[in-house]
Amino acid sequence: MQRIYMDANATTPLLPEVFEAMRPFWIEHFGNASSIHQHGQHARAAVDHARDSIARLLHCRASEVVFTSGGTESDNLALFGTLTPELSPTGEKTHVITTSIEHHAVLHAAESLEKRNIDVTFLPCTSQGLIEPAALIAAIRPNTKLVSIMYANNETGVVQPIAALAAIAHAAGALFHTDVVQAAGKVALDLSPHGPLKDVDLLTISGHKMHAPKGVGILFVRRNVRLNPMMHGGSHERQRRAGTENVTGVVGLGKAAEIASAWLKTEGPDKLAALRDRLEQGILAQVAEAGINGAGAPRVSNTANLYFDHVEAEALVIALDLKGLSVSGGSACQSGATEPSHVLTAMGLSPTRARASIRFSLSKLTTEEEVDQALALIPAAVAHLRDLSPTYNKPTLTSA
Ligand code: PLP
Repeated sequence: MQRIYMDANATTPLLPEVFEAMRPFWIEHFGNASSIHQHGQHARAAVDHARDSIARLLHCRASEVVFTSGGTESDNLALFGTLTPELSPTGEKTHVITTSIEHHAVLHAAESLEKRNIDVTFLPCTSQGLIEPAALIAAIRPNTKLVSIMYANNETGVVQPIAALAAIAHAAGALFHTDVVQAAGKVALDLSPHGPLKDVDLLTISGHKMHAPKGVGILFVRRNVRLNPMMHGGSHERQRRAGTENVTGVVGLGKAAEIASAWLKTEGPDKLAALRDRLEQGILAQVAEAGINGAGAPRVSNTANLYFDHVEAEALVIALDLKGLSVSGGSACQSGATEPSHVLTAMGLSPTRARASIRFSLSKLTTEEEVDQALALIPAAVAHLRDLSPTYNKPTLTSA
């Protein structure tokens, strides 16, 4: 049996067309995009073309796209680039609002801001993993400068009401940032002045979650938003991100954006959602004491996060890996850590149930055969581990 990959939220493979688009830029067209000679001009034209492709995916201006090294840098740039620890005229500290379910790229950046004399509020979520607009309204202060709330959660796939949340931030005079790393290429995103995301000022994308290479991403920065660069050097990216452009990576991301724009207009997203549903329903039909984390909330079409009571997620990940199926327990960045997922515990799962949760994340490359093969493996692996579990189905001993 071919190995089955169901960990697309950790990373996705390059599409062959993306690889082919990048290929000439390794050796033949190696120029520095800032050089004025022909070699440089060729590289510059490729970077500009990629910027246009991303602008088309996001319905924004090409000049609002800043290339970075990936999602982590873009998230950090959004926070550190827009906030200063200055006190207001009335002596209040700068205030930022984010959530308790963000990726660590935002969560840890926000914790670092706290150490720089900036006040941070971490909003709680509901049991479905949703951030309530009322909670944001209640948390806003006169000195709230930035609100950062992710579009789709990397562990559960739960999608937030971003348009409503961004409108609330704007009405209060705060900037709004969203991390769309797990939604880009999976859902339509429209940042145009009259589009649903018109109140979003800053937005993060990572290449390797959408079939482009690792080490490249973008931060969308809406025109008129002042951004202080984190790195100081050349005047690249209109002085918003210094450093010679990663031309090959940028070309790959541009090509991936073109492919995503076309795919979003096909039946692809519906088919992907149907595969995800087939997987979830197939598991729930065969495995008792299991359930979907985030059930009932809007979710991106590729992500299924399920708990299997009386099973250790790590043991199940290893058991499935040995059978040829790659999945993940919690987010990949936390693998190896024994702490239960901060997202699942924020949703109110007990640490034990959070540690019994597995993420299956599909991609547009996943096939129905692969889903069916996975369905043939998962129930047996769960049953085997439960047989070994001291807490499962054992009769309670009563004293005579
Ligand atoms: N944001 C989210 C929601 C993610 O899932 C990830 C990666 O898992 C990142 C940010 C970080 O992106 P990168 O790996 O490009 O640094």
